[in-house]
Amino acid sequence: MTLRLYDSASRSHRDFEPLRPGHAGIYLCGATVQGEPHVGHLRSGIAFDVLVRWLRRSGYEVTLVRNVTDIDDKILAKAQEAGVPWWAWAYRYEREFTSAYEALGVLPPTYEPRATGHVIEMVELVERLIHRGHAYRGDGANVYFDVASFPDYGALTRQSTQHMTSGEDEAGDKRDAHDFALWKSPKADEPADAAWPSPLGRGRPGWHLECSAMAHRYLGETFDIHGGGIDLRFPHHENEQAQSRAAGYGFAQLWLHNAWVTVGGEKMGKSLGNSLTTRAVLARAEPAVLRYALGTVHYRSTVEFSDDSLGEAAGAWKRLSGFVTRAAERVGEVPRAEVEAVRAAQLPQAFAAAMDDDLNVSAALAVVHEQLRHGNQALHDGDDAVLRESQLLLRAMLDVLGLDPFAEPWRSGTAPGSGAEQALAELVRAVVAQRDEARRTKDWALADELRDQLAAAGILIEDAADGTRWELMGAQ
Ligand SMILES: [Zn+2]
Repeated sequence: MTLRLYDSASRSHRDFEPLRPGHAGIYLCGATVQGEPHVGHLRSGIAFDVLVRWLRRSGYEVTLVRNVTDIDDKILAKAQEAGVPWWAWAYRYEREFTSAYEALGVLPPTYEPRATGHVIEMVELVERLIHRGHAYRGDGANVYFDVASFPDYGALTRQSTQHMTSGEDEAGDKRDAHDFALWKSPKADEPADAAWPSPLGRGRPGWHLECSAMAHRYLGETFDIHGGGIDLRFPHHENEQAQSRAAGYGFAQLWLHNAWVTVGGEKMGKSLGNSLTTRAVLARAEPAVLRYALGTVHYRSTVEFSDDSLGEAAGAWKRLSGFVTRAAERVGEVPRAEVEAVRAAQLPQAFAAAMDDDLNVSAALAVVHEQLRHGNQALHDGDDAVLRESQLLLRAMLDVLGLDPFAEPWRSGTAPGSGAEQALAELVRAVVAQRDEARRTKDWALADELRDQLAAAGILIEDAADGTRWELMGAQ
């Protein structure tokens, strides 16, 4: 099977044919760290995390670059309003984004470059564009991309300049309204430390420029996949592609765009207030449940986010993680290393076919739930060999979606996979076994005493038909 992906530049499904066999280079536009992340901001991180996980399981070595836009007009304006340095504002929200990604089990990118760390590369790119006749100087240090000089402008979004809205403010020194800023002179009211000395004059980079410069720095002239939210296609991605191709680079071979998150049919934005910040949602839902709600819809379909959709995700997660827990209690926990070693080709064929079909996670999830039924049947029948195999396959499939219940960060309690965690599990099992024996011999006083001892240590136990389960108090 070959992985096919929907390329939004050619508007067609295309076989994934990497430039370097066995390797995939991906650039993903990351966060502009201007405020608290809300769940809409996290969708692309999750969608592309599934792509990365599937590529790795399919045997590819993946390089993922996800940038941090730590300087732009909005950051400057908001920091000024709050009376703090713009860089302090940017660092603060960069950390918020990092912890939100971590909470939702998004694997860290290979490289996470900040725009402000790549000003030299950006200046070099601007100079190259001037030299090649695709950029010109305006007033002061201003430099603009000359859209008319590049006939392919509009190729990504298939529009001609006559029908485009110009994405930027009108500036008196532009030759054409469609031209966009590559390098900007500082404005009088901007802080002095928001500009860098350069041969172009003191200034700061335009937003689009940074991604072209950083993609080139970390992935080379030509790379496999460029990703981002659908709202970035124009003008941001159109401009990125124009800059890089006008500089003589091949740039991205495939463009993947994820749809956005809506609430009541409306695109999630600032107007919806603070109830949908990641922090607020995680106060009322487990992180795995939020990941399930955002990550199990096809990346090109809109996620309609509501308490109902969270509730459905919670139900599905409980069934899946509950089964995995019961299976592990019965036949032991299949080690993570074994789960990670399952190759794409060893997974149920229908699951692999669904993922290879433009990451069709809804069809893949149907196979996961079929495996769950199979596993529950094995649990009921006491067929331990089938049960172990079910646990392994189910967890490996869920891991492609970033949702193996025994993987970081879903595991509650002590540090996942640590020796302390294993030791705790052994001790609890020994006490539970003693208590089971006490109950069998009707020594209720001893059974209660053992339960109270566990409770005093912060461990809750629950007697069920198929045995005794335990969890740490307060663990989600
Ligand atoms: Zn970008």
